Amino acid sequence: MSIKKGYFGLYGGRFVPETLMPALEELDKVFNIARKDKNFINEFESLLKDYVGRPTPLYFAKRLSEHLGGAKIYLKREDLAHTGAHKINNALGQALLASKLMKKDRIIAETGAGQHGVATATGAALVGLSCDIYMGTEDIRRQSLNVFRMNLLGARVIPVDTGSRTLKDAINEALRDWTTNVRTTHYVLGTVFGPHPYPLLVRFFQSVIGKEAKKQLLNKEGRLPDVLIACVGGGSNSIGLFSAFLHDKDVKMIGVEAGGKGIETGLHAARFAGGAKGIFQGCLSYVLENEDGNILQTHSVSAGLDYASVGPEHAYLKDTGRVKYTYANDEEALEAFELLSRLEGIIPALESAHAVAEAIKIAPKMSKDSIIIVNLSGRGDKDVQEVARIKGGDGKTKI
Ligand SMILES: *Cc1c(COP(=O)(O)O)cnc(C)c1O
Repeated sequence: MSIKKGYFGLYGGRFVPETLMPALEELDKVFNIARKDKNFINEFESLLKDYVGRPTPLYFAKRLSEHLGGAKIYLKREDLAHTGAHKINNALGQALLASKLMKKDRIIAETGAGQHGVATATGAALVGLSCDIYMGTEDIRRQSLNVFRMNLLGARVIPVDTGSRTLKDAINEALRDWTTNVRTTHYVLGTVFGPHPYPLLVRFFQSVIGKEAKKQLLNKEGRLPDVLIACVGGGSNSIGLFSAFLHDKDVKMIGVEAGGKGIETGLHAARFAGGAKGIFQGCLSYVLENEDGNILQTHSVSAGLDYASVGPEHAYLKDTGRVKYTYANDEEALEAFELLSRLEGIIPALESAHAVAEAIKIAPKMSKDSIIIVNLSGRGDKDVQEVARIKGGDGKTKI
């Protein structure tokens, strides 16, 4: 894998205006210092432990496994991390990088549903940086509680009223801000996406998920898993889990995208099922676009998976066949959401429910001594109201 120049095979790179190049160069330099800096790593790891609550447990889902009648299913409990999802690992790492090694006094971020915004605002509060979060006005309307949360944490939410008024427009504005204020400001990108070095930087901070899971399973079972399953939005929780196992060739890996209302309807975010190679927001990857190269509208019941492109390393892992990519549609995710809640007392994030849905499909076909690890990327508290709305008064799931 040629990652030196920021490429994963064909994919990745740095497709940004010249004005951003110095900032990306600086970030790359600092990142390479940070990863070898004992003081920095010690401080990061100590915060992961005492502030985030790591290591997150690897939990054997006994009732779910018995119900499905096949493989043993373990859940990596990122839902138990502070702020309720894996995003804090990266947000905290980058906040620390910005304040300790880059000496910036402000961080900015984009957010869709608000999860990454909340994680970044949390990191900013912890290390004492000022924080502005770009968010589309459509998302602000849908996620008012997260806007309030960010305000409580001392961040300012800047409304973006252009384009579709959602995540991709918020990213455009954040990049614009960064270009203007790069001397004082670090841009905390939320997933393994965008121009080099972000895909490597975010993977670095999320790789703790896979390192822990590997050690925990070896302790409990004395062997490696047969299959890893994770949902893929931008791709950070999945890369976080997968990265520790990429060289273990007997470990299969499955990334689950959002099938929305079905690939044939066009209302989905399954980049690998319906997309093609293209450049979008700073890197070359798979993109959902029309013949003229315009980005298509996407749909998913889970906001965190609802994005038109995907991290470039995933594009590479798909082409090489190392990871298999599939999708779960809205209905399957909602069924998994309810089943896990009922059988295990764990309400998963709707994003994570896509990964659970894949486990529901494959576990029954596997032998009872085989092992699956599902990355439970986040908790479902944020989604309960939306699920109640979808299910409606008669209690039957409607989409
Ligand atoms: C944001 C989010 C995702 C999707 O992002 P990735 O970068 O693909 O991990 C998945 N699960 C949860 C709970 C999220 O908040």
